[in-house]
Amino acid sequence: MNKQTDENKLNVPKKDYCTPMHTAEHILNQAMCRNFGSDRAFNAHIEAKKSKCDYHFNDSSKIPTTEALIVLEAEVNDIISRNLEVTSRIVTREEAAKVADLSRLPKDASEMVRLVFVGDYDVCPCIGTHVSNTKEIGKFRIISTDFNDGVFRIRWKVEGKI
Ligand SMILES: [Zn+2]
Repeated sequence: MNKQTDENKLNVPKKDYCTPMHTAEHILNQAMCRNFGSDRAFNAHIEAKKSKCDYHFNDSSKIPTTEALIVLEAEVNDIISRNLEVTSRIVTREEAAKVADLSRLPKDASEMVRLVFVGDYDVCPCIGTHVSNTKEIGKFRIISTDFNDGVFRIRWKVEGKI
């Protein structure tokens, strides 16, 4: 089974995902990196009603507390509410590596890389489709979380726009 997220599938866009949810995934990943020193989700399942993202946490003492998750949710909503433009640019791998982590690009990814920017908050390589402005996303809500075998899973949704 392919465990790569949409963000990593630079060559083959997934057909059936929801654009606002997927854009929220970008913001959630950046918020996880900033708040918990986590990597971006290594596995994601994005659907219109409910999505989930999985993060590696080798040290269980580092997993987010309930209080920290409230802060995380608020940060994602703060970014959404800033009405940031979501833009993309196609650059060489070399140029992309200066601003984004390319370590998880598939080996057969093309030499040119499409970077997706959420304002100046997040940049990552992605071939997917996104809203053009974060105001199209709606409200981000964490539904539940759990931690098993070094994997912290966040189940979440967005409300109000879809
Ligand atoms: Zn994307």
